[in-house]
Amino acid sequence: MFDTLSDRLTSTLQSLRGKGKLTDADIDATAREIRIALLEADVALPVVRQFIAQIKQRAKGAEVSAALNPAQQVIKIVNEELVAILGGETRRLALAKNPPSVIMLAGLQGSGKTTLAGKLALWLRKQGHAPLLVACDLQRPNAVTQLQVVGERAGVATFAPEPGNGVGDPVDVARRGIDEAKHAQHDIVIVDTAGRLGVDEELMRQAADIRDAVQPDETLFVVDAMIGQDAVVTAEAFRDGVGFTGVVLTKLDGDARGGAALSVRQVTGQPILFASNGEKLEDFDTFHPDRMASRILGMGDLLTLIEQAEQAFDQEQAEKAAAKLTTGQLTLEDFLEQMLAVRKMGPIGNLLGMLPGAGQMKDQLAQVDDKQLDRLQAIIRGMTPAERADPKIINGSRRQRIAVGSGVTVREVNDLVNRFFEARKMMQQMAGRFGFGGGGGSKS
Ligand code: GDP
Repeated sequence: MFDTLSDRLTSTLQSLRGKGKLTDADIDATAREIRIALLEADVALPVVRQFIAQIKQRAKGAEVSAALNPAQQVIKIVNEELVAILGGETRRLALAKNPPSVIMLAGLQGSGKTTLAGKLALWLRKQGHAPLLVACDLQRPNAVTQLQVVGERAGVATFAPEPGNGVGDPVDVARRGIDEAKHAQHDIVIVDTAGRLGVDEELMRQAADIRDAVQPDETLFVVDAMIGQDAVVTAEAFRDGVGFTGVVLTKLDGDARGGAALSVRQVTGQPILFASNGEKLEDFDTFHPDRMASRILGMGDLLTLIEQAEQAFDQEQAEKAAAKLTTGQLTLEDFLEQMLAVRKMGPIGNLLGMLPGAGQMKDQLAQVDDKQLDRLQAIIRGMTPAERADPKIINGSRRQRIAVGSGVTVREVNDLVNRFFEARKMMQQMAGRFGFGGGGGSKS
């Protein structure tokens, strides 16, 4: 699921990397690629249009974050817009103040309703609830037995019409199910209803009658994510015919393009509450728009990294450092501050590991270790403020003292100081060449 979409979005966004500035033409080209990727993933056209318009507007607008480079900003915008079309905040199940709460399931035959009833029951039971399953699908042969089987597997009770009475009245079964729940102290009732192979009026009427009889707290529209564009049509039919308060996507484990997931919420205006991703009762969880979006973007934890960078970033401090850089006046004190700012974001190996493609660079990453940075930090901390500002004044005996004080060898102190001089010289040369500032600062 989402693999193709994910690959396309990732390569489109990766091609932006390394660009210092994005022109309107860059943004238009990126938007075009994203549009194709979404259409190929079977996302409904109106949803694609709105999505692209938002991306363009925001990417071209003055929405600048000093902590991020232009490519990261576009990734951030695409991610936020994906989260938004998937529903924004995670929507939790709304339970009634006075139990029993009633959850009614509606959807086409084969969408996974009966399986879902078992999954939901197990999930609720694990949270300490005592659900009762009510079998109102009296149309499909075996639907009642199937519900009883999943109920048993989930360890919950099932209320079903007595066998042998011919096809009963689903509305009557639903009412009696609720009475049974009150009587036997179940706090949640899950009502499974009949589906058809296609949308038809009779089906809608029956579901609406059950709805009127049980007054559900939640009506969940269950939709097979593999049916692509049809998901949108079916969702609209159920919205108009029965109405629902939330959506459950099933078969997200299937090899489909995923457009349904991205369209249903936007088209119906109702949130996705749960996602099913397998045939086992445990293959089920709350739907989190943010997690789904990062899965679609396939960018590892780059998004987390972007967030952490924004949080750890100190605008003022960075501007000061940048100003000093351009005049070649950087001191070891500034170097230490910058290092500390980066390290606020977490262990350096973790940070690098969050970058896309990091998987292939494991060996190199293993060499960047926090201990090494700890040593550099310790050396700089062992210096006096005057020495940090101008390491030239650190003579041989001071180097010895600093090494002992910070638990390193004299050679490590020498290395750091020499590398610092080299770096500063390079910056001064660059500052001279590009005409930044006065190229001031003490010469070494
Ligand atoms: P209903 O007619 O709506 O009650 O649908 P069922 O619950 O009988 O499910 C139809 C088929 O889809 C069954 O074979 C289920 O095992 C299968 N199914 C349900 N949910 C999932 C899922 O999330 N992933 C996969 N792969 N199969 C599922």
